[in-house]
Amino acid sequence: MNILLDAATIQSRVKELAQEIERDYPASEEIHLVCVLKGGFMFMSDLIRGMSTRVSMDFIAVSSYGAGTKSSGEVRFQKDLDTSLENRNVIVVEDIVDTGLTLKYLQEILRSRAPKTLRTACLLSKPSRRKVEVPVDYIGFTIEDRFVVGYGLDYAEKYRNLPHIAILQE
Ligand code: 5GP
Repeated sequence: MNILLDAATIQSRVKELAQEIERDYPASEEIHLVCVLKGGFMFMSDLIRGMSTRVSMDFIAVSSYGAGTKSSGEVRFQKDLDTSLENRNVIVVEDIVDTGLTLKYLQEILRSRAPKTLRTACLLSKPSRRKVEVPVDYIGFTIEDRFVVGYGLDYAEKYRNLPHIAILQE
């Protein structure tokens, strides 16, 4: 597989994002990160290690893909949050925004739970694929329309453990 983003490049960008996020919130306020499973787990774990102790976290699971590489546009809710979002500074942590359908759906649900603020951090964005407009406040890398794996992203549950991002040869 061709490497699109090597591990060192990802690590340094994620550190930058962690610092940017911390700068954007008053020092007295907690930042509550909501990781979207499964793809967001590696991004989340590096992001929080670049941040101070005023961080709390929770996990949510949705799926918009089956075992293939094409979006069905259908989003299934598989695991809900454990704690309330009310009056918290929430950041959704996602692996990739592609058509935007998953994120749009998620943002609507989370906004209805009355967070104080709601922002989104995505490691990757494929703007050429967007079907709906969706705000993303922190983007690691903007990429072309290629199906990528690694650093949390899978193809049929494989490759999530790669420390880099690679283009899947079809
Ligand atoms: P969207 O709803 O924006 O079309 O899709 C978002 C979800 O689709 C992501 O969270 C991810 O799980 C999956 N996805 C989109 N593009 C890719 C890709 O290039 N590689 C992988 N592995 N998953 C992708």
